[in-house]
Amino acid sequence: MKIGGLQKVSLIDYPGEISSVIFCQGCNFRCPYCHNPELVDPELFSACLCEDSILSFHRSRIGKLDAVTVTGGEPTIQQDLASFLKCLKAMGYQIKIDTNGSMPGVLARLIAEHLVDYIAMDIKGPLEKYGKITGMAGVSEQIAESVRLILSSNVNYEFRTTVVDSLLTEEDLLNVGDLIAQSRRYALQPFVPSKALRPQYLEEKSLSLETLARVRGQLGKKIDSVIIRPST
Ligand code: SF4
Repeated sequence: MKIGGLQKVSLIDYPGEISSVIFCQGCNFRCPYCHNPELVDPELFSACLCEDSILSFHRSRIGKLDAVTVTGGEPTIQQDLASFLKCLKAMGYQIKIDTNGSMPGVLARLIAEHLVDYIAMDIKGPLEKYGKITGMAGVSEQIAESVRLILSSNVNYEFRTTVVDSLLTEEDLLNVGDLIAQSRRYALQPFVPSKALRPQYLEEKSLSLETLARVRGQLGKKIDSVIIRPST
């Protein structure tokens, strides 16, 4: 595992649980608004944290933490993710993965081996816009497959979209609703400029809250819970 950071405790990353947050280094996407450039651009990587020390830390927190959130970067491109999660599961932790959904084969294995309890999957936009938004063309089938896998699993999940005005329209968001129709939980995340992989995106803004409220009303007809919350 290439681990770029550890947050020892979080009350907001794993819904309803006290979790640590492990930040994986590396991502196969290049979303221009990404707020973790130091985990995505190899030129900005710092020295990796030692996997053994991360596991030791979690061993010492058994009974104090409920869960571990594994985020990035993109966790599912890590070669030894499954074996790492097995170690954490053996300590009794619930595991949440934040993923861009580009590696459905990895998600399928994590689900089948009961190594994940909660999946938060980014939906970058309608499938036809993935190349433009992520810089990675030809990934739409993998995204659709990940959505299908999650919806047919027994794992808790949410889908979420960071909304940047110059990249997504109201119609795009309604199309995303078709992709994840009948899902339980969807978060619309207005883009909040703080850090960005492409610094010019610090000048960008979200679609208006009024527009997002309208989208929420429409999507609420096919998704159980649609919320609006700031991107983190
Ligand atoms: S937003 Fe997520 S998927 Fe996109 S570049 Fe950043 S870490 Fe990767």
